Amino acid sequence: MKKIIILGSTGSIGKQTLEIIKKNKKNFKVVLLSTDKNINLITKQIKTFKVKNVVVTNNKKFEILKKKLKKINIFPDFENLDNKIKGKVDYTMSAISGIEGLRPTINIIKKTKRIAIANKESIICGWGLIQKELKKNKTEFIPVDSEHFSIWSVINDFNTSDIERIILTASGGPFLNKKIRSNILPNDAIKHPNWVMGKKISIDSATLMNKIFEIIEAKKIFNVDLKKFDILIHPKSYIHAIVKFKNGLIKIIAHDTNMKIPISNSIYLGEKKQNFIKSKKIDLNTLNYLNFQKINVKKFPVIKILKKITKKNSLFDTVLVSINDELVDLFLNSKIKFSEISSKIWLLINLPFLSKFKHQKPKNLAQIEKLNEFVRLKTRTLSVISKKK
Ligand code: NDP
Ligand code: MG
Repeated sequence: MKKIIILGSTGSIGKQTLEIIKKNKKNFKVVLLSTDKNINLITKQIKTFKVKNVVVTNNKKFEILKKKLKKINIFPDFENLDNKIKGKVDYTMSAISGIEGLRPTINIIKKTKRIAIANKESIICGWGLIQKELKKNKTEFIPVDSEHFSIWSVINDFNTSDIERIILTASGGPFLNKKIRSNILPNDAIKHPNWVMGKKISIDSATLMNKIFEIIEAKKIFNVDLKKFDILIHPKSYIHAIVKFKNGLIKIIAHDTNMKIPISNSIYLGEKKQNFIKSKKIDLNTLNYLNFQKINVKKFPVIKILKKITKKNSLFDTVLVSINDELVDLFLNSKIKFSEISSKIWLLINLPFLSKFKHQKPKNLAQIEKLNEFVRLKTRTLSVISKKK
């Protein structure tokens, strides 16, 4: 029986992971699940999967659930895991959204034989620290973001130096063929044409900030030079990545717009009898009309940020994630306009007190978390001030 943990089990990736496991329930033991606030859904998950350990990070919700479910171990955080879980589990899905996923991800590595990471913010801000933990604990790592899973699945027999070019595809989000008006509402911006995802990543897909993050994520995971990356718009999201090798081969990876494909592959990888989900037939209609396009930088100005990304790991990556996290929150709470997400990121990353972090290497978790708080506060204050003017 495979023991598993899901960080962020009430989110889009977390729920899909549990749906895959439900199909083969007798072969899994769910050891730990987590939520921030959604105690109603996690209560259902506890019952369905007979889970004994749960983390609820929101203080109020933690107190409520602790009183309600006396027989279950309810914890407020991911600290002291050795006291919470005996031995190691076989598989962990890291699917908390935002930089808040970094600490749990680092903490859980020692308790799992394999970790699949969907939480791209933790890879972007803390890859060096994650890598160190992976090595120390001999934990196997699989990227789950669809582009990264695709690249990962085709480069196994190659060295990084064999790669000439990597193209990531972007759907272009809900506004690809629409005017970006000044009165766009959060509900319009989260309506992704191809994927059903959490709110934060849906907004990042609409601004195309998601692709900036994915290039940083890929650069770190695969240790490939930034100059080798490119982005192409591909509205159907059928192709996830194109990798050109120096031997002339080009590998193009396609799959349906269904995150269960990378997730289930990360769960069942290496097994003889693979219980993969049933996927659709090859979609010839889409394959005949892949329709790759260059990005319209005027419409999606965040693309300019690519020029600002540093070659080496630096704290600037955290600055970028934190500014964006805060601006997306402000937009979702109707405090700023959709177009202001892009314009304010550009403004803020060019301020000397923030751009200086390009020259600083991340040292430890506390430093990254402190910087995140500082940058989010500054972003909030500066956005409010510039609004008042
Ligand atoms: P969701 O917003 O749907 O879910 C996020 C999960 O994290 C929920 O369980 C949520 O709990 C929990 N959470 C949120 N904030 C905190 C916090 N401060 N502390 C602890 N837990 C918290 O996100 P997604 O599932 O869409 O995305 C998860 C990650 O995977 C993101 O980093 C995203 O970029 C990445 N990803 C997602 C894809 C997708 O298709 N969805 C594709 C590729 C990558 P609660 O329910 O209480 O809010
Ligand atoms: Mg992706």
